Amino acid sequence: MGNSIKEAEKYCKENDLKFTPVRRKVLEILLQKNKALGAYEILDLLREAGFKNQPPVAYRALDFLVKNGFAHKIEQLNSFVGCMHPGKDHSPAFMICRNCDFVSEEEAINPSFSVSKIASKAGFKVEKAVIEARGLCHSCASSA
Ligand SMILES: [Zn+2]
Ligand SMILES: [Zn+2]
Repeated sequence: MGNSIKEAEKYCKENDLKFTPVRRKVLEILLQKNKALGAYEILDLLREAGFKNQPPVAYRALDFLVKNGFAHKIEQLNSFVGCMHPGKDHSPAFMICRNCDFVSEEEAINPSFSVSKIASKAGFKVEKAVIEARGLCHSCASSA
């Protein structure tokens, strides 16, 4: 996780963006938890970490992290995870545990490729496809 924070620092410096304390903390929280977190959970954790309760600031920090590729939004859960491969353009595939909300990010070779094949039959041009697979994580599957 230290690496991801460093990557983010470097990226912000190179691109003239501000890596503010709130942005940093939100990213740290996401990377530490290793699971999908909703905006409210993130707000709670920020408060526990001594930040003021300022939802708009936290939401803007999340937007910033997602927009710059340090975090991803999991649409199915309406929540967020820290990116495991920051700093490079990638097509993530998320494995989401339905039992504990653990999220693992794998790199999909090219998810839009297979989707494109189906889509082209419908005359639809795919620009971006994200895989969100739902199931049981290793520890939940073995304790079930
Ligand atoms: Zn990622
Ligand atoms: Zn699980």
